[in-house]
Amino acid sequence: MVESVFMAELSWPEWEEKIKAGAIIFLPLGATEQHGPHLPLNVDVILSTAVAEVVAREIGGLVAPTLQYGYKSMPRSGGGQTFPGTTSLDAATFSHTIRDVIRDMGMHGARRFVLVNGHFENAWPSVEGVDLALRDLRAEDIRNVTVIRLEYWDFVRRETLDWIFPNGFPGTELEHASLIETSLMLALRPDLVELSKVPQESRASFPPYDIIPAPPSYLRASGVLADARGASAEIGRRLLEDHVLMMTDAVTQAFTP
Ligand code: ZN
Ligand code: MN
Repeated sequence: MVESVFMAELSWPEWEEKIKAGAIIFLPLGATEQHGPHLPLNVDVILSTAVAEVVAREIGGLVAPTLQYGYKSMPRSGGGQTFPGTTSLDAATFSHTIRDVIRDMGMHGARRFVLVNGHFENAWPSVEGVDLALRDLRAEDIRNVTVIRLEYWDFVRRETLDWIFPNGFPGTELEHASLIETSLMLALRPDLVELSKVPQESRASFPPYDIIPAPPSYLRASGVLADARGASAEIGRRLLEDHVLMMTDAVTQAFTP
């Protein structure tokens, strides 16, 4: 009997047994996207998977294979699609991948899912994928499937943010490849972080609307949207603590009848 929290490392009878016992399936939603000159392309994969792994372990869940590609990067939240290496899916492809995964697992008996999103732009297309999956399952007369969909970064205490940003937390949208993601990577995969390459740049500022195609003023040469200087493994560890504790609580509560 293999004891792993990762679904892909189990045999099918082991997976089936855990599903029959009511295991919650965690599906991390990543992206292959530039994260500045100092971080790898798979930051959103590593972070969403890491949080899902610990929470799944806490509550006896399973982590399904992480979606390695996400919906298209936008200039105001991820730098945009022009960066070499940023490799994305059309919304329909992304939504349909989620639809297919939930539908197949649902056909095999899975009834409780948590989508752990790690890439800003995945938010609405992932809702679409869930909606389509539940519609397909209803057509098979499977009606008792519940999906929680969340962004891991929302699970953080005000005190933690005040400690990290003593001058006030400016919001997650511009945190791309910045202080928070760099700190989390320093806590989890310091071998993939090149601190000497952190850009000496301050916070980007955008008008509160998209222009498509994006004018040059919407594109940041470094790909980093806010100041990443000051990132540390200590900050990353504190954030992870919050993410895991608060998400474990939330998921447990949401699935308690
Ligand atoms: Zn990211
Ligand atoms: Mn992203």
